[in-house]
Amino acid sequence: MTIAVIGAGLGGLALARVLYVNGIDAVVYERESARGARGQGGMLDLHSGTGQRALREAGLIDKFHAIARPEGQDLRLLEPDGTLLLQQDTPDDAPLERPEVDRVDLRNLLLDSLPEHAVRWGRAFTSADDGVLYFADGSSATYDLLVGADGADSRVRALLTDTRPVHTGQNVVELGIPDIDRTHPDLAAMVGRGNYWVLGNGQSLSAQRNGDGRVRIYLSFHTAEDWFAASGIPFGDPAAARMRLIELFAGWDPRFTALIAACDDTILPRSITTLPIGLTWPSRPGVTLLGDAAHLMPPVGQGANMALLDGALLGLALAAHPDDFPAAVREYEREMFARTSAAAQQSARAQEILMAPDASRKMLAFFQPD
Ligand SMILES: Cc1cc2nc3c(=O)[nH]c(=O)nc-3n(C[C@H](O)[C@H](O)[C@H](O)COP(=O)(O)OP(=O)(O)OC[C@H]3O[C@@H](n4cnc5c(N)ncnc54)[C@H](O)[C@@H]3O)c2cc1C
Repeated sequence: MTIAVIGAGLGGLALARVLYVNGIDAVVYERESARGARGQGGMLDLHSGTGQRALREAGLIDKFHAIARPEGQDLRLLEPDGTLLLQQDTPDDAPLERPEVDRVDLRNLLLDSLPEHAVRWGRAFTSADDGVLYFADGSSATYDLLVGADGADSRVRALLTDTRPVHTGQNVVELGIPDIDRTHPDLAAMVGRGNYWVLGNGQSLSAQRNGDGRVRIYLSFHTAEDWFAASGIPFGDPAAARMRLIELFAGWDPRFTALIAACDDTILPRSITTLPIGLTWPSRPGVTLLGDAAHLMPPVGQGANMALLDGALLGLALAAHPDDFPAAVREYEREMFARTSAAAQQSARAQEILMAPDASRKMLAFFQPD
């Protein structure tokens, strides 16, 4: 039985690894040309009951602890006028409940745990028909079970449902300051070791310290789907785009706009979309989905954790039913639908807080309930 996984993101790789430790081969097809072809984004906090559980099933928890950054859990919450509402510093002996990890390190951990031939790079899936996969480079391959782990814009998803992601009313611009300790020590001290959030009315600025000395900055705007085109931000001219973004933060404490001014020329606009909460589909024997392909949710800390656990649990279900993959898929989907629907509801509530007019006070109440 040939298991084909589309997508070498965290979910697809967790599946391949759990299958591998259970003696089952799978082939992962990834559209990127090589592991370093594209930046992998910032930090993730891996929760003990989900993302860390997946790594335990994958036999990688000790290696994860070696790359995890507990101090990345530090949090500073501020208002646009500069008022510090909350500062949480992680004690040295804090339990590893939700340690942060750089996404690139986590992906490399998973990739290094697989045999070289397990991932086929430069294979962009286009369609599947009658047990055959077709790729954009004209090649094809056979499969018995096809797993779509191909993220938010999944092409595999269309084999199971017509549902498509919809815009959430949030648009994010990602920028970053490289080597911040050397280039801007004052801003490095301001941001600290972990997450730094400034929540305003209809927009926010968050900064996060990464292990390689880069601070990633996310500017979030609660605006319509066509806003990037309509806003006139000249993304092709990073210096001019930074100036325009600074203008959009007029009235905010100058220390916050100084963060934008210090960024380099990497500037990534992202429209935030989600799938409907509780999306399901009638189980089909030869195909299933995991991760964002199955349950894209707002980016508030659950998506990667769910993708990892999906991969691990699907791997375990297939290992438990090696002669009956359809039964394994049904068992996996039943649990995945219930678990991820609850996580999507939580994420939607967190997203509501972040987008509320008095977001900073609401967030403070969330972290410091009566
Ligand atoms: C700004 C931002 C911040 C986030 N922060 C967090 C966080 O702090 N914590 C958290 O838990 N989650 C976070 N998330 C969500 C998290 O990134 C995703 O939920 C997670 O990456 C999903 O993993 P995945 O394996 O399903 O998909 P992905 O990581 O998207 O991987 C999909 C893979 O499939 C490949 N692919 C796509 N199409 C094809 C194709 N046609 N053929 C072959 N390969 C293909 C892609 O190249 C990619 O490698 C954040 C998301 C965003 C946008």
